[in-house]
Amino acid sequence: MLDIAIIGGGPAGLSAGLYAMRGGADAALYEGLFVGGQATKTHRIDNYPGFREGVEGFQLGVELEQHAARFGLTVTYATVESVDLAGDVKKLVVDGETVEARTVILAMGAKPRPLGLPREAELTGKGVSYCATCDGAFFKGKQVAVVGGGDTAVSDALYLARFVERVYVVHRRGELRAAKSLQQAAFAEEKVEFVFHSVAEAFVGEEKVEGLTVKDVRTGALRTLPVSGVFAAVGIVPESGLVRGQVACTEDGRIRTNEFMETDVPGVYAAGDIRTTPLRQVITACADGAVAATRALEYCSERG
Ligand SMILES: Cc1cc2nc3c(=O)[nH]c(=O)nc-3n(C[C@H](O)[C@H](O)[C@H](O)COP(=O)(O)OP(=O)(O)OC[C@H]3O[C@@H](n4cnc5c(N)ncnc54)[C@H](O)[C@@H]3O)c2cc1C
Repeated sequence: MLDIAIIGGGPAGLSAGLYAMRGGADAALYEGLFVGGQATKTHRIDNYPGFREGVEGFQLGVELEQHAARFGLTVTYATVESVDLAGDVKKLVVDGETVEARTVILAMGAKPRPLGLPREAELTGKGVSYCATCDGAFFKGKQVAVVGGGDTAVSDALYLARFVERVYVVHRRGELRAAKSLQQAAFAEEKVEFVFHSVAEAFVGEEKVEGLTVKDVRTGALRTLPVSGVFAAVGIVPESGLVRGQVACTEDGRIRTNEFMETDVPGVYAAGDIRTTPLRQVITACADGAVAATRALEYCSERG
């Protein structure tokens, strides 16, 4: 039986893995896609201490994994299909096999929130995207729209401006929520055009995106932007479906924890974007992972 099973190989899970292994635990980490989690969706992380020139999100994932690997952590690339968190022995089903662990750290993170428009799922990959760094290069020389007004929307627009002819940033308010430095950069970039007080209303195009109709929230006037790509940057939703009903969550699905990352189930911890945290960043996810693993180690040693 494992001491600590970690679900998710983003910054929170990998940091938990590092602390768990360095603390002498028998730990395992399960990752369904690739290490780095959401951090891999941005071309540059500029605010993670120690990387003063910034670091590519994908590279940061690799660095975090290799750092944990130095202490013996092995990442198993598999999706955890179900869990049973009640009782002293926790059970995870991975690739059809049951894994037993004394403690579990939930670090499944979050995924982008859809725009909620008709035919959005059908057009995903045919012009609709949730990841500018993954898909931006496909739109070279074209016009695209980014929907949102926070850090992600503005940094996506700046990244897309490298490839595309024009980026419209569609935002429901008259001012951005993004960091001032990002705003200044975006206002100075002539390829970026802001469409304020507007919401995305409908996609134009049958087989692929050929335009985006937006509505002015003040006047109700409709306008169609001539874009072939629409990048959604309207927030994230926690990936807590796996444990819904087993640990206490907020209404919007964030796992409730205390400052030790403990959930309401003994031996079960949550770390990073999946939990009720005031800041969803790499630095806080890493810190959460460290706290969760330290607490899980204490739990194991208290119980012999
Ligand atoms: C576009 C973008 C730009 C960003 N820019 C910055 C920035 O500049 N600076 C900054 O500090 N932060 C930035 N962030 C935020 C930062 O990436 C996140 O706060 C951080 O990645 C959260 O880490 P996490 O480990 O909690 O979750 P995640 O990064 O979401 O990782 C969760 C991992 O769990 C895996 N997983 C989920 N379910 C399962 C399962 N059932 N079985 C196995 N694996 C599973 C997922 O595949 C994923 O790899 C950005 C995020 C985005 C989307």
